[in-house]
Amino acid sequence: MVDSDYDTDVWVCVDCFMAISGNWEFLEEHYEREEKQEREGDIKAGLGNKEWINLEDELTFSRHPCDCCETSDSGSRYQVGVR
Ligand SMILES: [Zn+2]
Repeated sequence: MVDSDYDTDVWVCVDCFMAISGNWEFLEEHYEREEKQEREGDIKAGLGNKEWINLEDELTFSRHPCDCCETSDSGSRYQVGVR
């Protein structure tokens, strides 16, 4: 169960999902050096100093901008909680 004080209507891209899971190597594997730094900056800015948790749900395809880094690239979105 998730504490009710988390906002759970939050959907993030796969990059942010991995970052929230603590898997920053994912970026390393998927982007060239410069792009990776840019993505990492966007994600860290989006994460801020809030608390993020992964939830179970996944949309396999969405055009909804990522609620964390705000990328508008369409693709999978994962549900997370934030407070
Ligand atoms: Zn994102």
